[in-house]
Amino acid sequence: MQLNDKVTLLKGIGPKKSEALEKLNINTLEDLIFFLPRDYEDRRNQIKIHDIKDDAAVVVKAEVKLIVNDRYKYGRKQLLKLLVSDDTGMIEVVFFNARYLQNTFKIGESYIFYGKAKENFGKIQLIHPDFSKGSEENGGILPVYPLTKGITQREMRSWQDKVRNLYSKVEDFLGEDFIKSNRLCSLEYALNNIHFPQEKQKLLEAKYRLIFDELLVLQVGLFAARKNIKEEENGIAFSCKADISKYINSMPYTLTGAQKRCIKEIEKDLECGKVMNRLVQGDVGSGKTAVAEIAMYKAVKSGYQAVLMAPTEILARQHFESISRAFKYHGIEVGFLTGSMKAADKRATLEKIKEGSFQIIIGTHAVIQPDVEFKRLGLVITDEQHRFGVRQRVKLKEKGRNPNVLVMTATPIPRTLSVVLYGDLDVSVIDELPPGRQKISTRSIGYEKRDNCYDFVEKQLADGRQAYVVTPLIEESDVMDLRSAHKVAEELSKRFKEYNVALIHGAMRQEDKDRIMEEFYHGLIDVLVATVVIEVGINVPNSTVIVVENAERFGLAQLHQLRGRVGRGPHKSYCFLIFEGDSEIARKRGEIMEASSDGFFIAEEDLKLRGPGEIFGTRQHGLPDLNISDLSRHLKIMEHAKKEAKVILEKDPVLESDENKGLKRKITKLFGENLTLDL
Ligand code: ADP
Ligand code: MG
Repeated sequence: MQLNDKVTLLKGIGPKKSEALEKLNINTLEDLIFFLPRDYEDRRNQIKIHDIKDDAAVVVKAEVKLIVNDRYKYGRKQLLKLLVSDDTGMIEVVFFNARYLQNTFKIGESYIFYGKAKENFGKIQLIHPDFSKGSEENGGILPVYPLTKGITQREMRSWQDKVRNLYSKVEDFLGEDFIKSNRLCSLEYALNNIHFPQEKQKLLEAKYRLIFDELLVLQVGLFAARKNIKEEENGIAFSCKADISKYINSMPYTLTGAQKRCIKEIEKDLECGKVMNRLVQGDVGSGKTAVAEIAMYKAVKSGYQAVLMAPTEILARQHFESISRAFKYHGIEVGFLTGSMKAADKRATLEKIKEGSFQIIIGTHAVIQPDVEFKRLGLVITDEQHRFGVRQRVKLKEKGRNPNVLVMTATPIPRTLSVVLYGDLDVSVIDELPPGRQKISTRSIGYEKRDNCYDFVEKQLADGRQAYVVTPLIEESDVMDLRSAHKVAEELSKRFKEYNVALIHGAMRQEDKDRIMEEFYHGLIDVLVATVVIEVGINVPNSTVIVVENAERFGLAQLHQLRGRVGRGPHKSYCFLIFEGDSEIARKRGEIMEASSDGFFIAEEDLKLRGPGEIFGTRQHGLPDLNISDLSRHLKIMEHAKKEAKVILEKDPVLESDENKGLKRKITKLFGENLTLDL
């Protein structure tokens, strides 16, 4: 057997099984070896039959006394019943419809059964337990693989057993010295103990090694993509003489303490000559834009261009309008760039960016397209960072020579993920809202109160205020029983005859979206029915109510963002979350939203409710899928890997030495088409 042999070489793997394995990306024996367990079942703590309690997960070793092959009275299901005993008592083991087990058990033989005990009519039963022959295995720690339909754990375990003798042929891509100095175990040892753990300690060593490997590959790959190893030292130093107080004094409000602190931190970074890599975290409405403006002013006054990229066209436009107004006063020209511009306008804009007459550029993804050239880019800002992937940020950065980077987000990012995403990222937190903000009164209601809710909305409209109504879908769906934006807009235009109701959604033409937002901003539209296109950043201070239909369809962080659309002016504001159905998670979300207006707290609760995988999936950040490591948990190993990644690249920047061949291959494999690596 060779590592690159096809799995079909193994007994028991025919066309059907190999097709199922292919779905798991397992084609060769080597793939099989690197298909790692997701969990383990500890079967070492066997108990005696008389100690079995109802509902407990148990491991018992027992002898088969009697085998009963039965049929259900009704239907054609096969029933296999075993009476098994040890020296303390007897229980029943039951398998339904298990023809394939017919000849498996023999009277007088011992087996280890692993399963959940159920008490039925005073008798303890194990229903469909896992089992193994008592003599074969004394119930060690068993691997549980992330399988797909058509393959059982039992089969996978037996295949893994068959390729065990190939471990010694797997080349360790890390050198012996490296392994030693990093106190890692060998790859062979790791594979042995990850698939066939003997004891916890060895399993932990094995896990550490394999997680480390994966994170090392990830880190070296990302560093290479960013090319920021060598460049870290020499960035662009902004001038100490560029006095930001001129700009600050021209602002219509006084900065909060948190904003001031954050700006101080940024200014220090900008003047020090090393590349700034800073994340500004601040809750919805905490005033991150003001901080960005001041940083851009600093760039311009130091003779550089600054660019601000926003995730949606609506948000980009809104930033452009308020920011260009503010900068006009200081004689600074601001350009606007989006994908939907007319060709002639775009050409003119690109020209002005290139020759430097636009000192500040605001736009969408259009700013990272190849046709955009800057004259002297010194500062790159991304707003609502969580909406962008690694690749987009890298592209933006490449538009200049080591520009300073500022990223802004309302979503707290776990430390591990930020280490991966940004390398050495410094974090500033704006933990204070501008004064005079009132708490948004939040009610989570059921469908039966929906009518009352819109009565309330009508009162607000009568007072001259405006409202948002958010729905999860645009069109009716056959599959889901949800109210669509179209339907709601229609219904509300009938209901609010004296008011203007408009609809906005992501699939509309840009001009139409712009026009509608413009009209809403100027009060020509009273009720804006929207999909989540309004989720991030939009600022219309006169709107005081937001109604979220089918709120059960939204995550907590999203609901919090949506709620942040109101409460932006002097008026008391309201948020209604209409929950339908009776999901437990939805109910909890409603409670949390009613109780808290703290985005960080809400994000934490969201994490608890949904688990890290769903929120911080690597895909949405443009990272490759990881096999064994978990970015929300393995911070320590991550930092270790990162340190070593740097050492490796400092010695061998493009990984050309023989020693790093294996590593290079692993990187290409992990990233695939995902990133262009300059190795
Ligand atoms: P976010 O952090 O969500 O991006 P914005 O930058 O959009 O918040 O700011 C929200 C609103 O608060 C804007 O209308 C802005 O003008 C206002 N604002 C920002 N800073 C202050 C401040 N220090 N005092 C009063 N209002 C402020
Ligand atoms: Mg914002």
